[in-house]
Amino acid sequence: MTEALLKVDKLVKHFPITGGVLGRVVDKVHAVDGVSFELAAGQTLGVVGESGCGKSTTGRCILRLIEPTSGEVWFEGKNVTAMGKTELRSMARDMQIIFQDPYASLNPRMTVGAIVGEALIIHKLTKTASEYQDRIVELLETVGLNADQMRRYPHEFSGGQRQRIGIARALAVSPKLVVCDEAVSALDVSIQAQVINLLEDLQAKFNLTYLFIAHDLSVVEHISDQVAVMYLGRIVELASAQGLYTRPTHPYTEALLSAMPVPDPQFKRKRIMLQGDVPSPIKPPPGCHFHTRCPIAQKGLCSTESPPLKKVNEGHWVACHLRA
Ligand code: SF4
Repeated sequence: MTEALLKVDKLVKHFPITGGVLGRVVDKVHAVDGVSFELAAGQTLGVVGESGCGKSTTGRCILRLIEPTSGEVWFEGKNVTAMGKTELRSMARDMQIIFQDPYASLNPRMTVGAIVGEALIIHKLTKTASEYQDRIVELLETVGLNADQMRRYPHEFSGGQRQRIGIARALAVSPKLVVCDEAVSALDVSIQAQVINLLEDLQAKFNLTYLFIAHDLSVVEHISDQVAVMYLGRIVELASAQGLYTRPTHPYTEALLSAMPVPDPQFKRKRIMLQGDVPSPIKPPPGCHFHTRCPIAQKGLCSTESPPLKKVNEGHWVACHLRA
C-alpha cells in the first residue's frame, strides 16, 4: 500500500449546546464520534451517509475550518491538528474545498476572474499582471469555461458552470487534496455526471486526491477507490468501492444500496426499508448507534456495546457485532 497522504485518527467533534441565562453548556451534538481512515495520494475516498451523519463536519475538521474536539489529522506526515495559524495558512494551499452550493460560495459582487484569481494574489503565485491574467484564463479553460467569461458575474452562469468556477478557484493554488463537500448534490443528474467526469479528468491530470462527500451511494460509485459509510458520527463500513458495492456487509450499507437505482431491472435488489428516522445526534442511542433501526439487531448486545470497526476482508472493515 502506498504511503498515506492523509491520515485521520480518532477524530471527534462535539458542538456544545448552551442554555439558561448564564449560557452554560447543557448538552452537545455528537457530530463526529471517533472517525479514522487513511487516504493515499491520487486516490478518492467517497464518504456517504444521511444528512447529519457527520460527513461534512469530518471534511471541515480535516481542513481545520472547524476545530476538532479531539483526535488527529496528519497530512504528508505533518500533524495538521497541532499546527499554528502561520503553518496552517501555508498548508491551506495543499488542501482545498469545493462546496455544495456554488452560488452561495461565490461572491456575487466579484467577477469570475477576480474569484478565481483571489488566491493567486493571497498566496503571491503570479509575478506580473499578464501572468495573473494568463493563469486565470488557463484555470477557466482547464474546467471547460473560456477567457471571455472572466469578466462576468456568478449570477450569469448555470449551476453546473458555477460549480466549475468553484473548481477553478480550488485549483488556483495547485492543491494536493480537495474535499468535495456535496459538490454535485445540488445539480441535475446529467450535470452531476459532467462535473464528476471533469473531476476525474482533473485528478488524472494533476494527481489530485479527493475526499468526496455525498449523501447518495450512486453518486460516489464511479469516482471512488474506497468508500466510507457513516452513521451518526461513526464510520460503519469502509471498503474498496468494488468490495462495498458487490459485498456490502453492514446492515445500514445494505439498506442504502437496496435503495440505489440499477440500470438493469433484472438485477434489482430487494428494497430494505429502515424503520423510523435517524436519531438525534444530541442523544445518539447507546451501544451500536444503528440498533434502533437495524433489521437484525440483537437485544442486549447491540443496545449496550458499541461495535468496533473490524477487518472482515483485505481492505474491508465493518462495525457490526453480528457481521464482523
Ligand atoms: Fe445491527 Fe447490532 Fe450490527 Fe448494529 S451491531 S448493525 S444493531 S446487528
